[in-house]
Amino acid sequence: MKINKSTEEFKKAKKYLPGGVNSPVRSFQSLDCNPVFMRQGKGSKIIDIDNGEYIDYCLSWGVLILGHADQVVTRSVSNAIQNGTSFGTPTVQETQLAKLIIDAVSSIEQLRFVNSGTEAVMSAIRLARAFTKKKKIIKFDGCYHGHADHLLVSAGSGLATFKKASSDGVPEEFINETISIPFNDENVVNTTFDRYNGEIAAVIVEPVPANMGVVLPAKNYLSFLRKITTENDALLIFDEVITGFRFGFGGVQSIFGIEPDLTTFGKIIGGGFPVGVYAGKRQIMSLISPDGPVYQAGTLSGNPVAVTAGIATLEVLRQNGFYNALNKKAADFESELKKIFVKKDVQVNFFNSMFTVFFTDFPINNFNDVSRCDFKRFSKFHKMLLEMGIYLSPSQYETNFISSAHSYDDLENTLSKIKKVINHL
Ligand code: PMP
Repeated sequence: MKINKSTEEFKKAKKYLPGGVNSPVRSFQSLDCNPVFMRQGKGSKIIDIDNGEYIDYCLSWGVLILGHADQVVTRSVSNAIQNGTSFGTPTVQETQLAKLIIDAVSSIEQLRFVNSGTEAVMSAIRLARAFTKKKKIIKFDGCYHGHADHLLVSAGSGLATFKKASSDGVPEEFINETISIPFNDENVVNTTFDRYNGEIAAVIVEPVPANMGVVLPAKNYLSFLRKITTENDALLIFDEVITGFRFGFGGVQSIFGIEPDLTTFGKIIGGGFPVGVYAGKRQIMSLISPDGPVYQAGTLSGNPVAVTAGIATLEVLRQNGFYNALNKKAADFESELKKIFVKKDVQVNFFNSMFTVFFTDFPINNFNDVSRCDFKRFSKFHKMLLEMGIYLSPSQYETNFISSAHSYDDLENTLSKIKKVINHL
């Protein structure tokens, strides 16, 4: 594999963009190699500027559930663009997409469109604080909810001690209102509610965390979170920016049978364009301006092009059998992949069409477990597969995705390459 042009372009980009990128993990910094610049995507494949072709398991970080340049989506978007790209007025399409989402998710009666997952979560937290008239937020180590100041709280040791900001430029005062605790541990949640009795506005969680790689919630953990938040008059926020519409038509919340108070979506519901959503029951959502006193606005929010891409995507996902076929394909891949890694000191965590390969011999249940993985082995694994035309998400802390465009041939091809590299790690 030659990436001469990518290497040249990266040098140029570094002159004009901090780190040469517009989102840090794209830089491959933790991988000890240069990032590859892509010029085209079609179905399950992406092609770089040196004409190298890859089977893509990053899929724009989980956005492209239909694969790249899906014809239904691109056709709808091309038509929409002919009519103008932004009006700053209401459009019929916004109501259409809102209805599609609301009809699919029983915990939601109203929603507001924004432009990114970060914005959705940031706004949901403002709303939760306004509704409960409380300040503190509980989040979980290793769950990512975008880069708003008060959510950039890193993991640290010690029970419920205030954590350090994971970014410079975040005032300590902001962090003091956020408590980050280990995932999958009921005791620590109980202790935290005891310690901050009456102060917790909300618990925010990725119901199936995907930002420390795929980590599965322990049995009954999510229903425990539902119960303890209700008992303490705190809101439960499910951040479904990744999980929303990935496993079934709606949120992963319906698979677990749990209704959060607020939900955030992004990624898939924008069909490859910038979109975010925060949503919940009318009683809470009616606090948002102009109906209520919680201010939140956006020049390009509900943009007709993005919303059209979202409608086209959801219309495909809604077709009978879509998720059965995708989840079955992922399950077949999972069983073959797990066979390859037997006795290799590797853990493979799957949740339907999301998976992460962890280089360690112990089960992965939280962020601390992930931090103890062999990152050098991961890096080698990633690089060798990249050179063989398999593009995995470029960090041990990230998740890989399978789309409806991945064929059984693609998956077999990937398995055979993994078999080849596994003995060289
Ligand atoms: N929440 C979750 C669960 C996410 O995975 C992400 C981004 N990967 C965000 C929020 C932030 O979304 P965005 O990058 O669109 O701001």
